[in-house]
Amino acid sequence: MVNLRIPGPTPVPDEVLQAMAKQMINHRGPEFKELMNDVTAKLKTVFQTKNDVLTLTAAGTGGLEAAIVNTLSPGDKVLATSIGVFGDRFTKIAQTYGADVTPLNFEWGKAADVNAIRKALQADPKIKAVLVTQNETSTGVTNDLAAICPVVKEFDKLLLVDAISGLGAIDLPVDKWHCDVTVTGSQKAWMVPPGLTMVSVSEEAWQAHAEAKMPRFYFDFSKAKSNLEKGQTPWTPAVSIIFALQVALDMILKEGLANVFARHIRVAKAARDGIKSLGLSLFADERYVSETVTPVVAPPGLDVKAMLKILREAHQVVLAGGQQDLSGKIFRIGHLGWVTEKDIAGVISALKVALPQAGLAGG
Ligand SMILES: *Cc1c(COP(=O)(O)O)cnc(C)c1O
Repeated sequence: MVNLRIPGPTPVPDEVLQAMAKQMINHRGPEFKELMNDVTAKLKTVFQTKNDVLTLTAAGTGGLEAAIVNTLSPGDKVLATSIGVFGDRFTKIAQTYGADVTPLNFEWGKAADVNAIRKALQADPKIKAVLVTQNETSTGVTNDLAAICPVVKEFDKLLLVDAISGLGAIDLPVDKWHCDVTVTGSQKAWMVPPGLTMVSVSEEAWQAHAEAKMPRFYFDFSKAKSNLEKGQTPWTPAVSIIFALQVALDMILKEGLANVFARHIRVAKAARDGIKSLGLSLFADERYVSETVTPVVAPPGLDVKAMLKILREAHQVVLAGGQQDLSGKIFRIGHLGWVTEKDIAGVISALKVALPQAGLAGG
């Protein structure tokens, strides 16, 4: 079997795959209602929230767009923190819809600095919302949301969180940390194929929504909520992916959230230890390393593209390269969702063979 170790789409367990082979049902009928209610209740458990959780048929980026257009108006001031590619994307969406964005960018490989966020909020009392990435997939850094969220709330700002590659793998108590809109995607930690974005919406986010004037139609939270009350979605949903999500949620809850988080911590440590044992170095600041993706610095001489090809063709190990400015400079091991230490051991032993073949001297 292919050892697919990219940070999404992630491998899907057999039980989950089989759920998708089921015949279609009426998405306005009683079976769908039961399915949707069950999935929504279980999602709330994993989100650790009592607030609404909406399931939208879209890529994760659709969820980010939904978070922006449902809570803001053109001209609203937004503090957009970014520590990499996906933080930049969230910033770009806010700019695209006419928010007055103050970007707050941090060096790639580092976490967002809480004091810098505090200073930016002190400097501009008109800021309405703050954008934060929980886990930056491009750099393998997890922000310290336990520290950042209270600062955002101390200033009483709306907190919009891209948790696409962290939620369900890294502890994120949405209500405890007062995340107003929290976005995730089915193809990351959830062990489900791409196609759904799941979004929590707090009371404050609903208040903001009532005044928000950015244009929206497909992603309108009001339509999603009123339909969800009937056990439906406003538009035809990805029914098969929702079948899959139900089974995956049962697996997650059976393992237990605490155990799922602990497994990700163990697997991530195995990845870091394995990389170090090969004499390679980690890209991310070790204080904020991600438990879902481990980027590795490409040493001089290593042809990352050639290495990825050898791993893929000779070892059935699929890793990710670096994105944008990091292309050719790093490679990334994804370890979220359906993953154990054994999968990582397979990656490390394949790397041992592939590294010297791809130009690494003395490997
Ligand atoms: C994967 C990812 C996204 C984008 O998700 P898509 O489903 O590809 O749109 C956004 N943010 C983060 C942190 C991600 O890991």
